[in-house]
Amino acid sequence: MNIILLGPPGAGKGTQARKLVEERGMVQLSTGDMLREARSSGTEMGQRVAQVMDRGELVTDEIVIGLIAEKLAQGATGGFIFDGFPRTLAQADALGALLAEMGQKLDAVIEMRVDDAALVARITGRFTCGDCGEVYHDQTRPTKVEGVCDSCGSSNLKRRADDNEESLRQRLMEYYKKTSPLIGYYYAKGNLHVVDGLGEIPAVSGDIKAALDNA
Ligand code: AMP
Repeated sequence: MNIILLGPPGAGKGTQARKLVEERGMVQLSTGDMLREARSSGTEMGQRVAQVMDRGELVTDEIVIGLIAEKLAQGATGGFIFDGFPRTLAQADALGALLAEMGQKLDAVIEMRVDDAALVARITGRFTCGDCGEVYHDQTRPTKVEGVCDSCGSSNLKRRADDNEESLRQRLMEYYKKTSPLIGYYYAKGNLHVVDGLGEIPAVSGDIKAALDNA
């Protein structure tokens, strides 16, 4: 089954995608992770997009569609979870065409709905393990031992360069201008499911599971 997790920055898409990978053997395709990897490995594309990302703007459709096309070609038996992609109508059309070429389809789009005020608090306290990807928060989900990942024991804990209030405001603006029209787009296609993204992580996972079982 192929699904999209749709929602503003801080909605919990990455956290829920990781759970679906563990529980259902799906493959997570996060364009944000791919772009950060390109940046840190210093590729020409990575250098080109670094400033755009730090400003909280979207990188070009051409770049992200290219990244996704490459990963889709590798296949996934448990299906794909698109996390942070598509973010524009052009990307959504391109994804539909790429899946159709492979004889596949999109089975569900999960909109994770959250209150804007909660996003600022979520994002500004967020840090992740650079080794296993576990997500933490200064106030609501600190590590048990300071500076050490609960999940894998690594001390490689990181904060994203764009997880600050100024950049977040820009990311939210981009979301409302360019990405939120996808909610109507997928509603019209008949595969939109809405979940409340503000609950505790297990409650949100339960709602997503129920939506996927109905898809
Ligand atoms: P994320 O980790 O999904 O929050 O993405 C971090 C940043 O990467 C975004 O603020 C954009 O600059 C860029 N980015 C990630 N995915 C996309 C996409 N599908 N289209 C355009 N830019 C993207």
